[in-house]
Amino acid sequence: MGCSFDCVYCYINGSKYAKKTNSYYVKSNACDLVYNKLKKLARNHERVFLNFGSASDPYMEIEKELELTREILKIFLRFKYPVHIITKSDLILRDTDILKKINDAAILPDDLKGLKSKVCVTFSFSTVDDDLASLVEPNAPLPSQRLKAMNTLAKKGFHVGVALMPILPYINDDLESLENFVKVFRKSNAAYLIPGALSLFGSSEISSRIKYYNFVKSNFPEILDDVKSLFYNREYPSNKYQNNLYRKVVRICKKQGIKTAMI
Ligand code: SF4
Repeated sequence: MGCSFDCVYCYINGSKYAKKTNSYYVKSNACDLVYNKLKKLARNHERVFLNFGSASDPYMEIEKELELTREILKIFLRFKYPVHIITKSDLILRDTDILKKINDAAILPDDLKGLKSKVCVTFSFSTVDDDLASLVEPNAPLPSQRLKAMNTLAKKGFHVGVALMPILPYINDDLESLENFVKVFRKSNAAYLIPGALSLFGSSEISSRIKYYNFVKSNFPEILDDVKSLFYNREYPSNKYQNNLYRKVVRICKKQGIKTAMI
């Protein structure tokens, strides 16, 4: 629980998932829980596609030492379950050996039989600029490292793509930046791109709202008022802003031949 990458926009800041991103807890019995769950599912012939990484990252620095994600993947392999991993880290490359075995052995649920790979990896980005990333995602591996990892996994035959979320309002939500995103991701062999707008929660000092406003104030003071009015009294930008953003991304993706859904 929690995440050491400490992204300034992280929605878990102040949420029920953790008090703040830069403090985290290890679920030391995670392997036992996963083992029992998958054993039961397999015994009942229930085939599902499980997801790693939502309110945390499965490849934080501490994973190098703990190898908890690696051990859980071995359990997936043992019971032949496919897996979808969302990460910001190239540490995933360490587990290519197990992912390859899962890809060979896993059994897909009936409604996903058409999927070309039983291992899907979604790399998460809010920018492809290493300098900007070191400000917004201070402890995460750089986008350039993620792009290389994505390319490597794609070339090994895994189904890989991008969660472009959050797109940063007034920083990289303009047409030129969006076109550049798609171009860069395509070049690194992303099969799909799922876009998402920024959301800001809470009002305490450790909330994503205040952390993000402080980041903008220090680095892009000229857009602070615009950002604040976009989120005035709400957690998401207006529907008009979001629809416009998604429409633009979908149009660019279509033009450049990249899907906007995993499947
Ligand atoms: S990698 Fe994801 S979970 Fe971790 S701090 Fe960043 S946004 Fe939050």
